[in-house]
This record gives sequence, C-alpha cells and structure tokens, in this order.
Amino acid sequence: DDLTESLIPPPPHYLVCINPFSGKEKAVQLFKEQAKPIFEEAGITFKEIITERRGHGTEIAMNLDLKEYNGVIIVSGDGLFYEFINGFGQRRDREEAFKMPLGILPGGSGNALCSAVLVNRGEQVLKNMACHAAVAIVKGKVNPKDMVQIQTQNETVLSFLSVAWGILADIDIESERFRFLGATRFQAQAVQRIMFLRKNPGRLSFLPIKDESKYHHLWGAEDKKRDSSSGISIQESQQIETNIGAKMGDSRSSSANQNANASSSEEGTSNAMGEVHADDLAMPSLSDPVPPNWTVIQGDFVCVLITIVSHISNDFMSHPGRSMDEGIIMVQYMDETTTRWKLINTFDKYMTGEYLKQDFVKARVVKAFRLEPLNTKEGILTVDGEQVKFGPIQGMLTPSKCHCII
Ligand code: ADP
Ligand code: MG
Repeated sequence: DDLTESLIPPPPHYLVCINPFSGKEKAVQLFKEQAKPIFEEAGITFKEIITERRGHGTEIAMNLDLKEYNGVIIVSGDGLFYEFINGFGQRRDREEAFKMPLGILPGGSGNALCSAVLVNRGEQVLKNMACHAAVAIVKGKVNPKDMVQIQTQNETVLSFLSVAWGILADIDIESERFRFLGATRFQAQAVQRIMFLRKNPGRLSFLPIKDESKYHHLWGAEDKKRDSSSGISIQESQQIETNIGAKMGDSRSSSANQNANASSSEEGTSNAMGEVHADDLAMPSLSDPVPPNWTVIQGDFVCVLITIVSHISNDFMSHPGRSMDEGIIMVQYMDETTTRWKLINTFDKYMTGEYLKQDFVKARVVKAFRLEPLNTKEGILTVDGEQVKFGPIQGMLTPSKCHCII
C-alpha cells in the first residue's frame, strides 16, 4: 500500500480565480457549493482569488508565478478566461505561460468554453454543468487549444472562441442589462433583434483551407448546391465571390488608404504578441489590401460569426464535432436572404448545429480572415463576447496553443 501511494503523484495545487460579476453573479456560490466539495474530496488544494474589477484577471496572469501552481481554475463565463490568455500573451515567457493548465467552471451566462470542453469529453451540457466540469478538473486531462491572433485598429488580442458582428454580437452586448436573467438574457434580446432585424453592409475576406470539402456535410453543401431554387450554390458563389474580389481591386485599395490613418496607432500595440504568422502564411497589414488568393465577399450580412470552438454558448453549437485543436477557423454568415420568418423557424436548430444547413446560412473553413464593416461607423463587434473597437478586424491562427483541462 505504501508503495502504491508513493507512485501516485500528489494531488495538484491550483489557483482558483472567481469572477463575482459573471452570469447571475453567483460564481462565488457555485464554486463553494458545487466544486469545492469535489476538489476537497479529491485532495486538491487551492488558493482562491475573487476578481475585484474588469482586467484584474489579465494582471494576475501577467504576474503569476508559474511554479507556484499546477494550474488555474477559472470560475466565470468566458470573459475571465479571455483576460487570462491575454495576460499570458503579454508575458516575456508567454510560451511557458501557455503551458499552464487552465480549467473552467461555468459561472457565466453563455459558458462557451466549458460547453466545448464537456462535449469534447462526450458529456451533455444542459444540466449539472458545474458538477461535470468539476469532475473533469479532478481527472485532470490536459489538451492543447487553438487560439487566434486578432487585430483591430487599436489593439492586438488573442481569441480562443469567436468574433461576432451583427445579430449575435448585438444580442450578446445589448442583453447586458438583463444579466440577472442568466442565459435567458440571450433569448429575451434575440426576440427584440429579430423583430427589428438589421442588415449590415460589409466585406468579408478569407483564405480557405485546401481540403475544405471534408467539412461540407456540416452545412449540407451538396444539398444547397442541388437546390438551385435556393439561389447561389457553393461552387458558383465561389466564382462570384472571386469576381467581386477582382472587380473590387481599386475600391479596396482606396478604402485601405482611408484606413491607413486610423490604424497608425497599431504599431505601438501590435508587437505585444510578436509577429503575426502561422506556417507559411503571413498576415497582411490591416491597412493593406488582402492578398489576391483570398476570397472576398461583399454584401449585407445579418451576422458574421467566426469561431474556433464547437460552441458559442451551451445551447448554441457553432461547429459540431470540432476538437479543441483542429487548427482551423470557421467563418459563417447569414446573408441578405435572411428573414424574420426564417430566423424564427430555426430557433430549435442552434443547439445541434443543424442551423448551418439552412439556405440563408453560409459557412467556410479558413486559415485567416478579415471583416470590414462598410458605410457605418458605429456598431457592435465582439471578440470572445467582449466588445472591441468597431471597424476593420482580422485574424489568423497562432502557432501557440493554450492548454485546457478537459
Ligand atoms: P458572462 O458569461 O456572464 O458574460 P464573463 O465571464 O464573460 O461572464 O464576464 C463578464 C465580464 O466581467 C467580463 O468582461 C470580465 O472581464 C468582467 N469582470 C471580471 N471580473 C470582474 C469584476 N470583479 N467586476 C466586474 N467585471 C468583472
Ligand atoms: Mg461574457
């Protein structure tokens, strides 16, 4: 018995970081009642920190002594996790810092990452999430997780979830005032946003991956192609997209010139995370036109959603079957054929990802993207559910991965 005990590694020592503001403001209670007993039973020791303000998580991550803990457990929605990886991203020893195992307990409203983690483990996410997540943390399996480096006109940040513009971003941010409702805040705001449906003129550019066809089943590419009455087929639209791209050569460079002034502050911040490139691919400067091999789409978007995770909340599966480190970015959008009626009719299809098969939803799998709102200076743009400066935004996968306890 003594011998077996000496072979088993000692239980880990974790930093538990709680956002008292996330979700229905019950994260402190959630940890105490649902996770703490399970951790204690497993012999896990921990130090608890309750964040005092927005940005506190970034400060903690920047100054964390990596040797002091075996991992960090985030008790929050996705906002505090976002603060943490961006704190790590600003460290000189960031590659070491990204190796720190990060666990997540669902203290927030959407809990996208926690949902992705649990679904990756083959568990359902609609009930007892906190309990399942606590058990996952006790088991302590660590997996790499993709990150995307995002550039806006005034900052460079790391994203682990999503970039959103249009109806989904509006719902996320405009529902802040219904925070006390928990996840129901999204549904309440969705009803209003569908009633007052907006179409946002913009330009979406991306570099598709080579073997995109293995993802076609997700959005029923074959069916969409066959159903000619539903408008443009995937293949044809590629043609049209490219044509638009070619025709737009001039207008793109003129808009790029307009952007040049606005993004001149970029230099001061963009080196915080080092050079932007992955493999053989280099990211163009936000003020330059995209390379000629990118696809460019221009139109009125009801929403654009860019994801690097399987879920954007526990009842919204944005990319069924996606693993934590698949090394791709999914770009999806609802085009100008979207109507209130179509949106209402797909309400029950977000949970399973079936909505991707609707004719007004388009999806692509890419290595890098750029999104440019047109003819409007105001609007809501989010990165991982956090609002960022409205304007052109681009991103590509980073060679670095963070590490999640799943
Ligand atoms: P939710 O899923 O409910 O949106 P998040 O985890 O995304 O929860 O947190 C919401 C916001 O709270 C994030 O922007 C995060 O940066 C911020 N935040 C973190 N700690 C605090 C705090 N102590 N007080 C106020 N805001 C905080
Ligand atoms: Mg949030």
